[in-house]
Amino acid sequence: MTRTLPPNLSEATFDKVLAELASVVSRPNLIASGDDLAAYADPFLPGPENPQAFAASAAVLPASVDEIREILRIANAYRLPLWTVSTGRNFAYGGAAPRLAGSVVLDLKRMNRILEVDETLAFALVEPGVTYFDLYAYLREHGLRLWVDAPAAGWGSIVGNTLERGFGYTPYGDHAAMQCGMEVVLANGDVLRTGMGGIDPGTSWQVYRPGFGPSYDAMFMQSNFGIVTKLGIWLMPQPSAYLLGEIQCRDEADLEAIVETLRPLRLDETIRHHAVIEGGIRRAASVSPRSQWYDGAGAMPESAVAAMLDKLGVGRWNLHFALYGAPELLDVRYAMVQRAFARIRGARITAAKYAGDAEPGGGANRNLAGIPSMSAFRMLDWRGGAGAHVDFSPICPFTGRDAMRQYTLAKARMAEYGFDYYGGFTAGERHLHHIAAVIFDRNDARQTDAAGDALRSLMSDAHAAGYGEYRAHLAYMDFAAAQYGFNGGALLRLSETIKDALDPEGILSPGKQGIWPRAWRGKRGYT
Ligand code: ADP
Repeated sequence: MTRTLPPNLSEATFDKVLAELASVVSRPNLIASGDDLAAYADPFLPGPENPQAFAASAAVLPASVDEIREILRIANAYRLPLWTVSTGRNFAYGGAAPRLAGSVVLDLKRMNRILEVDETLAFALVEPGVTYFDLYAYLREHGLRLWVDAPAAGWGSIVGNTLERGFGYTPYGDHAAMQCGMEVVLANGDVLRTGMGGIDPGTSWQVYRPGFGPSYDAMFMQSNFGIVTKLGIWLMPQPSAYLLGEIQCRDEADLEAIVETLRPLRLDETIRHHAVIEGGIRRAASVSPRSQWYDGAGAMPESAVAAMLDKLGVGRWNLHFALYGAPELLDVRYAMVQRAFARIRGARITAAKYAGDAEPGGGANRNLAGIPSMSAFRMLDWRGGAGAHVDFSPICPFTGRDAMRQYTLAKARMAEYGFDYYGGFTAGERHLHHIAAVIFDRNDARQTDAAGDALRSLMSDAHAAGYGEYRAHLAYMDFAAAQYGFNGGALLRLSETIKDALDPEGILSPGKQGIWPRAWRGKRGYT
């Protein structure tokens, strides 16, 4: 494999840089070749992208804020681009790979302390390397009655997921909204604490986000303005009881009625969490592989989908919901949910009640009860071969009309490129996160290329209809950012003005979210 160098550095200079970095972190924590470096490539890169365009030149793993500051000093001196990750498991959006080829990955997984958990005020303060599984294990070990809200893959970092505005499924599912207080290292090495963290020594960092004056936490999400080294997160107190339910609907067109029925229940807080409307294929994938039903080329024909759903006894749409609180409250709320959904012809509702400390089986159910799992990964087995996916993730207004429109559009485009509609809608309050995964076999070049082509088409379709993505793979970050084009791209102009002020050498994650520092602005584009 040819060696990837940072842009504008000769091999000899880069070797000097590596020697300086090694003096900060010691050799085993500087990775510059072999399989260890290859592990920073995106295993799910769609085609026809060139993996070299997202290749890291090295990875450096600091153990402390002081080491990060030393690394920044070196990076500023050589104009060395760094790409920050917490655990680098951002699969479907690029994994640990950098946007700009030759960047050095600043991997924070060794900084993995749980610094504080307060049971009374229900919060935790963690470092970037702490995963959802880690925090869950800690809470259990210490007998703390707090829940973790994990995304579908619980092995990722709390800091990484929160900064990307990931989401989970309990009432604390909006991860960015549940964040409170950050410590950030800026490109110039300055270390700041946001909000009440400015009071030193303080008492209120994790209980009130704004602090005094402008509030900056959101500025460090989906951006390249700083390196987050500590993050506060609110945790849900374990409820005394909860109920997990599923409502299965038969017809494709029922999506509209499901959304219209769910919205008022969500807005009046009868249902207080990120309920999920799961498409039939995604639901079926949790119990059987595709090959059992169809193994021809292209998207599964309607007749095969219908036969599969029928045989498995699952709906075309399946709403997973939960109710939390005292048992009496659950009864009242459940009756309201039943009454509301009884209006949809053929809707089948099932539910089970649990004591607050009970552990349900099944990954998706466990997520609803504050237990991390790896349920999302079952999708990789759907298509067989070397399973990979890239996600189309537009924001959808919480109306039946918009949901039907996005679904129809996505399904048709995916079929055109030979993919099944493997998706669903997760309920925010006024929006739905529509996530449709393009699943492909990465050993099949034709499929891998089609996945990339499908994604670009889907993004163009969405934009033409007035929608935008909440997150995008590295390869489409510029494309996604350009779609936020009001007034000639005023939003991106502001981001780049801030970028140039905070990071004049352009060393922190160039190109992240389409934000390019002056030094590398010419690199904007697909690859
Ligand atoms: P996870 O492993 O939870 O999926 P990652 O570590 O891959 O998350 O992080 C996802 C993205 O968030 C990264 O690609 C990076 O852009 C950003 N990010 C992660 N950690 C930090 C951090 N500590 N400071 C700034 N940005 C970060």
